[in-house]
Amino acid sequence: SQKVALITGGGQGIGRAICHGLLNQGMTVICADIDMEAADETAALYSDIGTIHALSFDVSDESSVQEGLQNIIDEFGRLDVLVNNAGISTPFTDPIEDLSLDEWQRYLDVNLTGVFLSSKYSLPYLREQKGCIINIASTRALQSERDTEAYAASKGGVLALTHAMAISQAPDVRVNCISPGWIEVGDWQKSRSSIEPMHSPADLAQHPVGRIGQPHDVAYMVCYLATDVASFITGQNFVIDGGMAVKMQYGDTQ
Ligand code: NAD
Repeated sequence: SQKVALITGGGQGIGRAICHGLLNQGMTVICADIDMEAADETAALYSDIGTIHALSFDVSDESSVQEGLQNIIDEFGRLDVLVNNAGISTPFTDPIEDLSLDEWQRYLDVNLTGVFLSSKYSLPYLREQKGCIINIASTRALQSERDTEAYAASKGGVLALTHAMAISQAPDVRVNCISPGWIEVGDWQKSRSSIEPMHSPADLAQHPVGRIGQPHDVAYMVCYLATDVASFITGQNFVIDGGMAVKMQYGDTQ
C-alpha cells in the first residue's frame, strides 16, 4: 500500500508546497493544521493529484496530537513520514526586556514542543515502517537580526532535537532538519490571498543566487530526504537560503 506522510502546518505556506511535493511522489498526504479552512482548501486544491486528507491538529496541544495520530492510524493503518513544519513563522517580538513570559512560551510551545509532541506520538508507527522525520527549522537557528530571541531559540532547539532523536531512533527512523532562509509564502496562503511581496529589488540582489526562496525550494529537499535514496543521511541540517549564510558581510557588497 501507499506510504503515508503527515505534514503539520500543511494548510498554507511551505507546508502546502510540501503536501504538493509528497503527493506527486505518490504518497498519501495528511495535511494537518490548526486552521481547518486552510487545510480543507489545500486538500481540495490537490485532490486530483492523489489521496490528500485534511486533519484538525494543534501541535502544541498534547491531546490534539494524540487524537490526530490515532485518527490517521485508524483510517490509513500506517505512518511513514512526519514533516514537522507547523510554526509561528513571524520571528520578530518585543525586545527581550519587554518580552512577556507568555509570548516567549508561545513560541517554544508551538515551534519546539510541537516538534517533540508530534514526534513522540508518531515514532511508534514510524519505527514499524522504518520511516523518517523531517523538521523545518530556520537559518535563524544559526544567525540573527535584533529582537528575534524567542523564535531563534525555538529553532535552535529544533536543530538539537533533530540530532538527539536521530541518535536515539537509529537505525530504524532517520531524523533530519531543513533550515530555510527567506521564503516568500504570500502566494501560498489560503484563498490565494493577495499578500503583496514584502521584498525590495535590493533584497533579491542581496541573495547570492539573485532571488528569494519559494516554498518548492524547501519541498524538493523534503521529497529527497523522505525517500530511500537518502538512507545514509540522518541527524543533519540542510540550509536552503540562496547562499545568504555563507556570504561575507563586510561593507556595502551586493
Ligand atoms: P505560514 O504561516 O505560511 O504557514 C504556517 C502554517 O502552520 C499555517 O497554515 C498555520 O495555520 C499552521 N500552524 C500554526 N500554528 C500551528 C499549530 N499550533 N498547530 C498546527 N498548525 C499550526 O508559515 P511558513 O512561512 O510556511 O512557515 C512554515 C515553517 O517554516 C515554520 O516552521 C517557519 O518557522 C519555517 N520557516 C519559514 C521561513 C519563511 O521565510 N517563510 C523561513 C524559515 C523557516
